[in-house]
Order: sequence, then structure tokens, then C-alpha cells
Amino acid sequence: MGSGQLARMFALEAIPNGYEVSVYSPEQNSPAGGVGAKEFVFDYEDKDALLSFLRSIDALTFEFENIPDFALSTIEDFERNSDLIVRPSTSCIRIAQNRWKEKSAFREAGIPTVNFFSVFTEQDKNDVPKKVGYPCILKTNTMGYDGKGQVKCKSEDELITALSSLKELNHIVEEFFPFTSEASVIFARFQDGTISHYRPSLNIHKNHILDLTFHPGNFPSMIETKLVDYAKKLAEKIDYIGVFGIEFFIKEDRILCNEFAPRPHNSGHFSQDSGSLSQFSLQLRTLCNLPAPTEIPVRPVTMKNILGEDYKPESKLWMETLKNPHFRLHLYGKTEARKGRKMGHWNYSGPKPESAFEHWE
Ligand code: ADP
Ligand code: MG
Repeated sequence: MGSGQLARMFALEAIPNGYEVSVYSPEQNSPAGGVGAKEFVFDYEDKDALLSFLRSIDALTFEFENIPDFALSTIEDFERNSDLIVRPSTSCIRIAQNRWKEKSAFREAGIPTVNFFSVFTEQDKNDVPKKVGYPCILKTNTMGYDGKGQVKCKSEDELITALSSLKELNHIVEEFFPFTSEASVIFARFQDGTISHYRPSLNIHKNHILDLTFHPGNFPSMIETKLVDYAKKLAEKIDYIGVFGIEFFIKEDRILCNEFAPRPHNSGHFSQDSGSLSQFSLQLRTLCNLPAPTEIPVRPVTMKNILGEDYKPESKLWMETLKNPHFRLHLYGKTEARKGRKMGHWNYSGPKPESAFEHWE
């Protein structure tokens, strides 16, 4: 489901392995279509088209979690009456697409998270400003990404004002956590319960969008162990099969889990050039019951995103960078370079991963 860059990079892994890949989305000439995936171009609400897509495939996975409920229910009904393999399960997708369910799942799995409160009713709207600590962040419960749908509030008055302007009540309010770093773990769990994962990465965001990933993040080993243990706890609690990326806030020895994405994650793109299996290979393997790797060797990689405003194929910077054999360019085949739109990324796997992109601004 979906035909963007994550589907493209999945297809680039699956097709050379002999698989046929089909993608479903309303977008024509999609990133995945550009590398040989067969496109089914229809609305997510088009039941007949979705059913004919599902009949044409053996296994289904997702490149994004914001699938409309109608499409998820159609997939669930179809799955019950067929041999279609769906990984991760639609129930895991339903958890990931809803911040309240997601944070509640963390809590139930024993994973620490920020204090959070739901704002679903008029009563909540009155009570929450008195209960939450400040500063806090008001977030849409569903459909948020790259910081969209979020308002930071410094005081009770600010939160009351922000709440009073809401047209619909489907939100959460979270306490702000003054973290010093953000980390993520790319984690895979196979049908038989076997797990594979990379070491945690350090992530730097700019304007709420991922800018840089340093892999491995080189956190103290006690922190690394905890991050991986939390990822495992989540996977087991919700019986996750497939690949996910899970994000954390860190301050000294305090770790809070922020969110997880039920699919390969932008902060896992380093794995394409880390000299071993990529996160898309793990996605393919978990989906198709191929073996889990016995280990994942680590080679340091630094990843930098290319947003629309950074897309400068003819610049001196790009030309010089392409001369350096330690940089690899991954472009997503998008023709229109809008501000903030993810166009591609660079992976650097040479001797100085800490400073690879230091002089780029
Ligand atoms: P999105 O779904 O848009 O990625 P996130 O919840 O990950 O939403 O928020 C985007 C970014 O905003 C985070 O990566 C983090 O930098 C910052 N942020 C979000 N929630 C908090 C919080 N409770 N405390 C501190 N920073 C936060
Ligand atoms: Mg996020």
C-alpha cells in the first residue's frame, strides 16, 4: 500500500530478488512505478479496485500508516477469506496511526513515554489544562507527520486558547520533554519470533523534519541496550511482524519513547550503504518468510536528507560530492521539488562519518 519513496526502495530490493511488486495509491508515475513496480492507480476508497489489487498479490505490506479506515477494513475482510499474507497486521497499523493508542501501547508494554492526555470530549477540554505540566504540545491524534498539526503551549492560558480554536476534538496533549538527543532503532521481527535490528542511530531534525542520521549513534552501552529492549518489548506486546522504526528522546540517563512507524523509516536509510542488509531487505524477508540474518555487521554511515529546497542537481556542491566515492546519492524520482518535500538522501560511508556534512549549510 502506497507508491512513494519507501515503496520504491522496497521494490529496488524485491525485484532483483525475483519478486514482482505491485503498488496501490492514487498517484500516477509514482516513485515506485519508476523502478518497475506495477501501479494500481485508484482512490483508497475505491473498493472494487482495491479488491482486484488484493486478488492479484500474495503478500501485502505498507509504506505508510495513514491508510483510511475504509481501506483497512476492506483489507481485513479480504484477509479473513483468503490466503493473503498481511504484514504488519492491520491492528498494528491501527495502533501506529493513532497517537493515543500508540502511547497507550507503549505504556502497556512498560516503555516510558511523556505524560499525555487525550482531548476527545468537552470534559477533557476543560480538565486537561489543569492536569498537564507546562510547556506542553497539543497534537492532532491522527494524520500528523513532520511536525504538522502540532502547537506548543507555554502556559495554561495558551493551551486554553489553542483548545478553544479546535473544530474537532481528536487530539492529545503531551508534556514537553527537554531532550538533548533523539535516537531511533530499526527493528525487524519475523513470523517465528526471531528478531533482527541495527544499533541505535542518532537523529538531528531541522524544522521538525529529519535532517541527519548518524549510525551508529554511539550512545553509552547502557542506553543502547535499553533502546533495543524497548523496541523488542513493543514488538512482542503488539505481536508485530515486519520492520518498524521507533523514536526516542534522551536526556542523560532518561529515555522516553516518542513514536513508532510501522514500516521502514527515514532514519534507517543508512542501512542501504552499511555494507550489509538494508531495512528494505529485512522488510522483504519478514514479509516472504525468508531467513533472518544471523547478524548485522555495523559500518558507520551518515545520512543526510535532500528536501525540495536542497535539490540542486547541477550545483558545484553536488558535482564535487559525486566525485567522492564515499558518498552515494539516492533520489526518489520525484519531478516537482516543493519546499519540505523529501526528494532523496545522501549516504556517506567513508572514514569521517561525524563530519561528512559539516560544511553544507
Ligand atoms: P511527527 O509525527 O510529526 O513526526 P512527533 O511527535 O515525532 O510528530 O514530533 C515531531 C518532533 O517534534 C519530534 O521529533 C521532536 O523533535 C519534537 N517533539 C514532539 N513531541 C515532543 C515532546 N513531547 N517534547 C519535546 N519535543 C517534542
Ligand atoms: Mg516523528
